[in-house]
Amino acid sequence: MNTKNFSSLPLTSEMVQNLNALGYKEMTAIQVESLPYILEGKDVVAEAKTGSGKTAAFGIGVLSALDVKKFRVQSLILTPTRELADQVARELRQIAKFAHNIKILTLCGGAAFGPQLGSLRHGAHIVVGTPGRILKHLSKDTLSLENLQTLVLDEADRMLDMGFIEEIEKVLEYAPKQRQTLLFSATYPAEILQLSASIQQDAVSIKTKSQEVANKVVQRFYEVQNDEKIQTLVNILSTFKPQNAIVFSNTKIEADEIAAKLQKSNIDALAIHGDLEQYDRNDVLVQFTNGSARVLVATDVAARGLDIKELSMVVNYDLPHSEETYTHRIGRTARAGAEGLAFTLYSPWEAEKVDVYQDGERLFEEADTLKTTNGFTMKPAFITLVIEGGKKDKLRAGDLLGALTGDAGLAGSSIGKIDIYERQSYVAIETKYVDEAQKKLANGKIKGKKFTVWIL
Ligand code: ADP
Ligand code: MG
Repeated sequence: MNTKNFSSLPLTSEMVQNLNALGYKEMTAIQVESLPYILEGKDVVAEAKTGSGKTAAFGIGVLSALDVKKFRVQSLILTPTRELADQVARELRQIAKFAHNIKILTLCGGAAFGPQLGSLRHGAHIVVGTPGRILKHLSKDTLSLENLQTLVLDEADRMLDMGFIEEIEKVLEYAPKQRQTLLFSATYPAEILQLSASIQQDAVSIKTKSQEVANKVVQRFYEVQNDEKIQTLVNILSTFKPQNAIVFSNTKIEADEIAAKLQKSNIDALAIHGDLEQYDRNDVLVQFTNGSARVLVATDVAARGLDIKELSMVVNYDLPHSEETYTHRIGRTARAGAEGLAFTLYSPWEAEKVDVYQDGERLFEEADTLKTTNGFTMKPAFITLVIEGGKKDKLRAGDLLGALTGDAGLAGSSIGKIDIYERQSYVAIETKYVDEAQKKLANGKIKGKKFTVWIL
């Protein structure tokens, strides 16, 4: 039997069928190595690079162990950010489709407390959330972990970086001693080992990173003066012409500045960082993932854990503060076996710090080998329409597609990704049709109802 097949695991046939329907034909390396232990109920501490399928590794474990008839919180998944919690919940809901009525709830800071109380009263099998907000619910007794079987810490390294250790420890005081604890991380600093030792029992330790990262990302370094950085960035983009790119900056202010300067150079860029309101962050992420913006300028926290498929390039506009951060950042490109490009700019006085990156494979080049192309632009193929209606209006992707191709008369090929959220939906429309699409949608009806529609 192929040991990469999900059917080689003790999973129900419904689970395996649904995984196949999701396009998960074979297990990823981390899934092959961790799932047998996870399904046995063992504690596992796993390190694997971003994009390696960690969510499904713990998700399949958590969902197989679930007793659907018992309507109590049986699993709790802690994540560092709201975006990541949403993303984990979305993936879990996909994997949970093998059975009916599995309730997965997200509880994150930054969202209103009241509605969360309502959702909790309705009950849930699995809760995904950020440590602070989970703790708040536990201390107010609005969330009970009495029936908890599995606790997952996703992106544990990041949660430690963000100073969540106290919250995590307090959350653990509410959890039963008899439980399975799974710890997932993209890097493995000493703190993770300590955390594992203090909250896990006989944990099986799994690492897959070294086999995966090897030579799939071409890594180039350039020494440049600060005032030449923007031009170097533009030259990198015009020389390598990536489909899309994330540019990492170490500060929020700089992220905004870089995006503004790129825009002046006719490169369509958006900035994302922790100072943006949640809905603004969402707008930016949607635009980047659906191809309405080709360059995202981000700080680490804002971009962490996001699963952006088919990312062509990562640029470290500043030298990352640590090699771990570097690994995280470049792990976003070269996903699913595709080759990726990673660039790092550093200042002459950082030359010594860069020494640790010299490993024979990474390329250190002169910035003047990059081409300056006159008239180079990076314009997106799509523009995003926002529809002031979403899941709560029972809107589905098919309804929007129907309204656009039917009444509005657009060709299916001019419509890109559709994202439906609770109160809003986003549709990527080929640039030249966007005005027409906006007018027709705003003047017509979707599912028999009128909605406000605007261009983002
Ligand atoms: P990580 O948490 O390790 O950064 P994710 O769990 O977000 O990575 O997974 C990255 C992507 O790979 C997701 O889009 C997920 O749906 C997909 N994926 C996960 N497992 C498989 C699999 N066995 N086969 C194909 N795609 C998978
Ligand atoms: Mg993950």
